[in-house]
Amino acid sequence: MLGQMMDMPLLVSSILRHAARHFGETEVVSRRVEGNLHRYTYAHCEQRSRQLASALQKAGITDGDRVATIAWNGYRHLELYYGVGGMGAVIHTINPRLHPEQIAWILNHAEDRIVAFDITFLPLIEAVAPRCPNVKRWLAMIDPDRQPAGSKVPGMANYEEFLAGGDTAWRWPSFDENTAVALCYTSGTTGNPKGALYSHRSTVLHAYAAALPDAMAASARDAILPVVPMFHVNAWGIPFTGPLVGAKLVLPGPQMDGKSLYELFEAEGVSFAAGVPTVWLGLLNHIEGNQLRFSSLNRTVIGGSACPPAMIQAFREKYGVDVIHAWGMTEMSPLGTLSRLQNKHLSLPPESQRKLLEKQGHTVFGVDMKIVDDTGNELPWDGRTYGNLLVRGPWVITNYFKSEDEDPLQYDSEGQGWFPTGDVATIDEDGFMHITDRSKDVIKSGGEWISSIELENLAIAHPAVANAAVIGVAHPKWDERPLLIVAKKPGAEVTAADILAIYEGRIAKWWTPDDVQFVDAIPLGATGKILKTKLREQFKDYRLPTA
Ligand code: ADP
Repeated sequence: MLGQMMDMPLLVSSILRHAARHFGETEVVSRRVEGNLHRYTYAHCEQRSRQLASALQKAGITDGDRVATIAWNGYRHLELYYGVGGMGAVIHTINPRLHPEQIAWILNHAEDRIVAFDITFLPLIEAVAPRCPNVKRWLAMIDPDRQPAGSKVPGMANYEEFLAGGDTAWRWPSFDENTAVALCYTSGTTGNPKGALYSHRSTVLHAYAAALPDAMAASARDAILPVVPMFHVNAWGIPFTGPLVGAKLVLPGPQMDGKSLYELFEAEGVSFAAGVPTVWLGLLNHIEGNQLRFSSLNRTVIGGSACPPAMIQAFREKYGVDVIHAWGMTEMSPLGTLSRLQNKHLSLPPESQRKLLEKQGHTVFGVDMKIVDDTGNELPWDGRTYGNLLVRGPWVITNYFKSEDEDPLQYDSEGQGWFPTGDVATIDEDGFMHITDRSKDVIKSGGEWISSIELENLAIAHPAVANAAVIGVAHPKWDERPLLIVAKKPGAEVTAADILAIYEGRIAKWWTPDDVQFVDAIPLGATGKILKTKLREQFKDYRLPTA
């Protein structure tokens, strides 16, 4: 017997329609590439997104066509999220920090028909356009009177003029909620990038889950600033979660340095922000250097790579800002786990609470996880045993875009498919997951594993250290031993022995790195993560003194 409830498909357009109808006056504030702040309401945003959808339709875009963006976090990018997805096409967000060759490869692989870009990226567009003959239109997102004349890019047009050609009376269509809505490629640190293709249903469910009190606790009283870019896994879903709950959105555009972000936080009363640890390093340095305080920020989600405990502590103890440590990946839209205490933990001593909050945390409803050994046997949840982390859920991919004949899943004895995350983790009795490493970064010493993340977290807490990375280096006796690579803070005087001293009594002695090497900067990838592949390359001829 079927239930007797209305069959309303879960479509992203319904989120923006809801925001426009029920939070019509709530603002979206954006720093523009033109330099100034732009503000309008959800009502206005929805109207322009519909008009854009109509313009796209007039330009021949139909169901399933891909429309790409190379853009900062801003209102035009938001309109593309909804305009493209809401009409039944697929919004493909591209990370501008990738190499132009990789961008051209991705554009061709996705078969994008239109690319909308912030004018900042014009030189990049000029470099890739000749290699992407299938792109029919390149839309420059800038006021028409500010658009540079005489572009060499064929098919270049202005976003505002293009949008103005759309019909304002156009209405959102209804269709199957399993229709594709958005495409994100992983950064491809190994081999070519791979596309994760989200559906309307997965995106709406993810937006609901992200809003939950033990996730982002997003509400209509919030002003949310995603520092995490809209070109990286849909800014962790905030462009959907924000309008879903009726929160004000504050979009920082191209100015992501500590000073600009701080000023925007204060001017717009930002209560909640989200970003990777490296952006917070810049912000915290600015605040500490200028003895500033946050007047409205009360919490922040930090994820994408392990958040150093020292950062969690600095936010909480110095600035009264709660850090919600989160873990996820492109293949899971991206939210998997977040660290928030349960009722039973409230009576624990502060030190034990702190330890829990440093973990990557508990799953949200919708995502299931487990750890397994190399033959797929499930491992115990004791907080000590580590294994390969597998996930499943309605916002986890089944396979990669245009690789449908390859099955990335692992199947259990009941035939259920699980996605192997490539992460190694422990899970404790209360279901708190803790990432030990990416499986390819874990250091194997004498048959035992050493967590590079744990060693990095301790190193970064040293006051002279700006950033730190640990890689495994070949060793004749132990197979591999850890090497600590450090970028010092400007002007800091510190020796290898000073830094190694921080490990004393805090880790098993045999985990201590065999050596420290100083570099000017730790290389970061397109999403702000430490590029260990590059470091391994850089240190390929290095020999440990113990070897
Ligand atoms: P890419 O795979 O392209 O680098 P993703 O953003 O999808 O980009 O990366 C997901 C990976 O990032 C995870 O599998 C995990 O290794 C790492 N990661 C994400 N969040 C955390 C976290 N809080 N702690 C440790 N690692 C994290």
